[in-house]
Amino acid sequence: MVKFCPTCNRSSEEVGFIGEFCEVCTSERIGRTIPDRVSIKRCKNCGNIKTDMGYEPLGKDPIERAIKHELHAKDFRLKMLEYDETKGTADILFKTDIDGNKLSFTKKLHVKMEMGYCPKCYRMKAGYYEAVVQLRGRSADVENFVTKLLKFIDSRNGFASKIDDMPDGCDIYVSDKAAVSAFFDSRENLKPKKSYELYGMRRGKKLYRHKFFIDLRDPRGLWSKKKH
Ligand SMILES: [Zn+2]
Ligand SMILES: [Zn+2]
Repeated sequence: MVKFCPTCNRSSEEVGFIGEFCEVCTSERIGRTIPDRVSIKRCKNCGNIKTDMGYEPLGKDPIERAIKHELHAKDFRLKMLEYDETKGTADILFKTDIDGNKLSFTKKLHVKMEMGYCPKCYRMKAGYYEAVVQLRGRSADVENFVTKLLKFIDSRNGFASKIDDMPDGCDIYVSDKAAVSAFFDSRENLKPKKSYELYGMRRGKKLYRHKFFIDLRDPRGLWSKKKH
């Protein structure tokens, strides 16, 4: 028996039906339940966007996951077909099952980038640090050392919030004391002098900043014997 859609009058000979209504009208009805616009948090310093996995560099796959995360559309599988950065739009293919019938449709969403700071940049901006590396020595050695230290810290997702030049070296303020310790542990020939400074409390626990002092000219330091 031929069915006619009560909304658009299409017949079951033209299009598929889901219950009483044609699949075109059903898709439109369900599509309307999905918001037209979605906001994604983006860091104005590093440009990373917030996804289900924290902050990640902008890219097709992270945007797709960020949209999915923000829509809270659990009943849908979605795939981003196109993203237009200048227009701020994303064409999304939605797929779902309704009473055993597969339904898919596309919808253009307006994507708004909500600018702010990611936790890492926020702390960098606030001058956050847990460790100070006081480095002294010949300028070429100091420079070489700073490059290696910063590269290591960066690989651990940390940062230097400040570097103060000193007459015979520099003081580097680092966000992550564990990363600084790991850096020195990985270089057995470097034995800095360590000291600690109480700087606050968090949830009843005392917080210490670590100070590492190293003089690359120190004849007892083995720095010059084995270059990394
Ligand atoms: Zn219809
Ligand atoms: Zn950032």
